[in-house]
Amino acid sequence: MSNARQKAIDAIAGTEYDLNQIDFRTAHLKELFGTLVFSEEVQKARLPKPVFKALQKTIKQGAQLTDPAVAEAVASAMKDWAIEHGATHYTHLFQPMTGLTAEKHDSFLSPTGTGSAVAEFSGKELIKGEPDASSFPSGGIRATFEARGYTGWDPTSPAYIRESPNGATLVIPTVFVSWTGEALDKKTPLLRSMEALSGQAMRILKLFGKTDVVKVFTTVGPEQEYFLIDKNFLYSRPDLLACGRTLFGAKPPKGQELEDQYFGTIPERVLACMADCETEMFKLGIPVKTRHNEVAPSQYEIAPIFEDSNLATDHNQLTMDVMRRTADKYGLVCLLHEKPFAGINGSGKHNNFSMATDTGENLLEPGQTPHDNAQFLVFCVAVIRAVAKYPELLRVTVASAGNDHRLGANEAPPAIMSIFLGSQLQDIMNQLEKGKPETTLPGGFMEVGASVLPKLPRDAGDRNRTSPFAFTGNKFEFRAVGSSFSIAGPNTVLNTIVAESLDFIATKLEADVAQGKTFLKAVQELLSGILRDSKKVIFNGDGYSEEWHKEAERRGLPNLKNTVDSIPVIVRKDSVELFGKYKVYSERELTARYNIFSEKYVKEVTIEASMMVHMAKTMILPASIRYQGEVATAVNATKSAGVDAGAQVDHLKEVTATLGKFQAATAALDHALHHKHSGEPYTDAKAVRDTVLPKMVELRTLGDALETMVSDDLWPLSTYREMLFIK
Ligand code: ADP
Ligand code: MG
Repeated sequence: MSNARQKAIDAIAGTEYDLNQIDFRTAHLKELFGTLVFSEEVQKARLPKPVFKALQKTIKQGAQLTDPAVAEAVASAMKDWAIEHGATHYTHLFQPMTGLTAEKHDSFLSPTGTGSAVAEFSGKELIKGEPDASSFPSGGIRATFEARGYTGWDPTSPAYIRESPNGATLVIPTVFVSWTGEALDKKTPLLRSMEALSGQAMRILKLFGKTDVVKVFTTVGPEQEYFLIDKNFLYSRPDLLACGRTLFGAKPPKGQELEDQYFGTIPERVLACMADCETEMFKLGIPVKTRHNEVAPSQYEIAPIFEDSNLATDHNQLTMDVMRRTADKYGLVCLLHEKPFAGINGSGKHNNFSMATDTGENLLEPGQTPHDNAQFLVFCVAVIRAVAKYPELLRVTVASAGNDHRLGANEAPPAIMSIFLGSQLQDIMNQLEKGKPETTLPGGFMEVGASVLPKLPRDAGDRNRTSPFAFTGNKFEFRAVGSSFSIAGPNTVLNTIVAESLDFIATKLEADVAQGKTFLKAVQELLSGILRDSKKVIFNGDGYSEEWHKEAERRGLPNLKNTVDSIPVIVRKDSVELFGKYKVYSERELTARYNIFSEKYVKEVTIEASMMVHMAKTMILPASIRYQGEVATAVNATKSAGVDAGAQVDHLKEVTATLGKFQAATAALDHALHHKHSGEPYTDAKAVRDTVLPKMVELRTLGDALETMVSDDLWPLSTYREMLFIK
């Protein structure tokens, strides 16, 4: 007997992999770094000096590129450089609202009409593209306007070369907007939000006398979790192949309960794959830093050094792409879904967030002097206020059908947005709230300086893995982001709500100072007030506990348990006002996203449910019926041999009963799927959640029960114990 499942195991056992693909004695990482990037160094070497200066001014200080001659010179240098690196084509890479990236390649060659061709790439082609964009989600924006979509060069994210077996491509990061200038992508709002935050943060810095700062960046370091399993398993698991997660699968006898995986030794093939990924990422200028085993079997994490949010977002998209492609080279598959396997940990993306000046100062770094310290407290309290004021907006940025299996579903982190400060910072905040910080924590961590504000310890926090939003020394870590997400959305919202807080604080302080109030005293009074209003969002205990859920409810913190509950906040009046005020999303752009989130949810759940019905009917049911037949035959044979078959009859009854329920559940899910859609995306999303999802859960429970009854040699689907442990 040999089904796809057996063949997968045979293939894994019989394959030798060439794991020595890179020789680090000859390929030194330091020399590799950025070799495929049109980096500052390359720009300096290849561009005329004034062009280089203008471009750098745009990248580092946000100055707009107005002179077309600059684009022309950059295009020309980029083309020569790319062709020297073997590129035959170029592409504008954009980030449509699917959360993925999109590209269309054009050759550098232009026929001259006389039988030959020349390599061409002008400033015009660098700056603007017009892909046929009608098939990307627009959430209704494009239905009412022209169907056109344009890509526009983002000079702040460097172009790079993507190597592939037959030639290379010059990749130019771009925004993607409609004919009317509305954002059809994830990059445009992110850039807008960074600008909004920069403007407000500059007002605060000015009050602190920092006049040399030209721009404030938000910085992000996304820690990426993922699974790597053998690729052969995909052949027997249509659910993994099509949906990225298993829709059936009984709990294995051994899961993660021995806690023997986290930070454990990395399996050899996986390590070889990781090293290869990292080499590729180094060449692309992605500053990848850390790798380790995660909690679940076959789960891992990779983390880069932080960069400005725009670049970090582009690099994270690229990281996911490199990981998928490289895994394939080693016969592995990289699963980026939030919950590929039930019953063990899912995957997230810890979004480490801070703000930094163009002069290199981290604004969430607790300072050494009372003056810097006050500045730190202003920025820190601004973030606290932002999360307290807009928890639902933050929540909806991490909402998806996939992430619903993590957030609020007995797994880290909960769907209630709260902030963890750690004992030291908490202590300082408590004092600040009371207005008179004058005590010290044991150990002399804290001193009261000449000013009214306390001195802070450098490492101001211990760890709490259960909090969705934690202060970790010199940054906040937003842990609720799903592993497959683009981090653009979460950071766009984070930047905007923090910008709003900084605006609020700056406005008040500017007025106080104008009225002759002492600056530091004004700061202290204002922060005290804000903390009193915002402290309900701070929680330093166990975020998974039952008590916290009750406590959070008592405090009036929203607990939006799933995507469908979260979506309406996108178009709520206060959201529209907020994003409109800071010019991040127009109302129409928000409505588009409201529709797209809803549509995406409906599609994802519907595909999964259809896949379940398909697997139930064509895989689980036939295998189970075969097994039922075998048992029935054995019972008959036993009886006719004159032997009592009581126990076997009981077993046959159990199998038959479960099978009957399984068939009924399959029919019920199939029926739910044929529910007629209203055509209004959000209404459909609600219907799908309420009618389809519960039926999926029922069917799965019964399918998993059959897996524990049916003879192993008949079972067609690779099991959890195989997929997670055969390496
Ligand atoms: P841990 O989360 O274990 O404390 P690290 O301190 O190494 O680990 O940081 C984790 C991630 O946070 C890394 O990607 C790192 O680059 C990022 N990070 C560190 N400082 C900042 C910062 N100022 N802004 C944004 N991200 C940061
Ligand atoms: Mg971390």
